Amino acid sequence: MAEHSHIEWTEATWNPVTGCSKVSSGCKHCYAERLALRLQAMGSVRYRDGFAIRLHPAVLDLPKRWRQPRMIFVNSMSDLFHDDVPEEFIQRVFAVMHECPHHTFQILTKRSARLREMAPRLDWTPNIWMGVSVENQRVQHRIHDLQTVPAHVRFLSCEPLLGPLNDLPLDGIHWVIVGGESGPGARPMRKEWVLSILDQCRRAQTPFFFKQWGGVRKDRTGRELEGRTYNEMPLQK
Ligand code: SF4
Repeated sequence: MAEHSHIEWTEATWNPVTGCSKVSSGCKHCYAERLALRLQAMGSVRYRDGFAIRLHPAVLDLPKRWRQPRMIFVNSMSDLFHDDVPEEFIQRVFAVMHECPHHTFQILTKRSARLREMAPRLDWTPNIWMGVSVENQRVQHRIHDLQTVPAHVRFLSCEPLLGPLNDLPLDGIHWVIVGGESGPGARPMRKEWVLSILDQCRRAQTPFFFKQWGGVRKDRTGRELEGRTYNEMPLQK
């Protein structure tokens, strides 16, 4: 749980669920897993089971205690639509988001099939942004699942970008984030992949956010693309 986040496109994190399991190549060097295991080794009670899925009802009400409006990333340490998270608990997470219209909540999943199946039973208030991760063409089908979700803001996180995405279906997509992998064993991201996504966003008039080049030392590679930063945010309807 962090009142302030170091993630460039959000302000705070809220983790009513922790733990996950790997589903696609984007998970290979999962940052959440590394951090969970480190916290377990440090004796953190919330991470005593390491990266196994655990529900934390005690922190459900945390956003209600934050008076100032914030951009909140939901479950930076898990995937809310993981099969082991009961639908009843997901509904409770949504209920808290409904009770906090002063905050904006950003949810990101790789379990787009479950999201699509459950979406008609969830209440999509305007302060809930829904995104899917798309690291390469193999998982581009997640975008089609997202396009069926009646969220007011739908976004893509192309991070870690692991291959070209030259034919993104951007209809009904309000925001695209791109970033390279960082940390030990980081896989490279090619500039032409990033420029292709920027070009597609420009043609579709979709806001583009370039998070980082990544690499083993991301502080050295920075986040400039062709001499400038891209921090565009979605226009809320
Ligand atoms: S879905 Fe996300 S949190 Fe879960 S293992 Fe993959 S990268 Fe980690």
